[in-house]
Amino acid sequence: MIIDTHIHLDDERYADDLDEVLNRAREGGVQRFIIPGADPSTLPRAIEIAERYDDVYFAVGVHPYDMDGFVGLEFAKYVEHEKCVAIGECGMDYFRLEGSDEEQEAEKKRQAEVFRAQIEIAKQYKKPLIIHIRNASHDAKMILLDANAAEVGGVLHCFNADDELLSLANENFYFGIGGVLTFKNAKKLVNILPRIPKEKLIIETDGPYLTPVPHRGERNEPFYTTFVAQKMAELLEMPRQEVEDLTTKNALKLFFNGFLDKIA
Ligand SMILES: [Zn+2]
Ligand SMILES: [Zn+2]
Repeated sequence: MIIDTHIHLDDERYADDLDEVLNRAREGGVQRFIIPGADPSTLPRAIEIAERYDDVYFAVGVHPYDMDGFVGLEFAKYVEHEKCVAIGECGMDYFRLEGSDEEQEAEKKRQAEVFRAQIEIAKQYKKPLIIHIRNASHDAKMILLDANAAEVGGVLHCFNADDELLSLANENFYFGIGGVLTFKNAKKLVNILPRIPKEKLIIETDGPYLTPVPHRGERNEPFYTTFVAQKMAELLEMPRQEVEDLTTKNALKLFFNGFLDKIA
């Protein structure tokens, strides 16, 4: 059994064949799906999907690229939904920074504020965080430590393989591993994988993006987490079944601890 801890099922690229996508995944052993929040405009769709399927859950949050949606997003309304499992994805992303130095500094500052605000919401509602970090490891880590985000913990989704973030394993953070692991140029992630404590590894697609080999270039979908599990098994020299059991146990602990009794 696999839990896909990060799959944007509310993306329009799944609108036409969502039933088939989910059924293929279920047949491959994927038994739960978490839709992260990103752009609040697709949140109603995420909730509609989570209400339609027993095995789909969602998170509420604002991606650093969609910060304009933060003001006015009524977290309270969504967090109390019985299928809301986390706050996020939220975090820091300097990949697309542009403009003058001052403009870039202002953008970084704004990202930090919106990130901190979401950490506080997570603490207030006792929900784990789904964290997105790209080209901003140092600043993001400082914020997580300073805001005492360890109180709720979370996942560094699509873990960027930065050494600096590894110590967050001791701060109640998990490491989301997806299709990148199968890429030829993913040496950094391949090398760091064995150094991540096993009890902190979880699996994700991040679909429709980051499709693993041998489907690279196509739309990603949750069934393809099986390729990630397979690759992880090879790299960690563990039976695939053990990798699935381990990562599922970890994901259950992080996201479903509070209501394990409610799920089959
Ligand atoms: Zn992300
Ligand atoms: Zn995402």
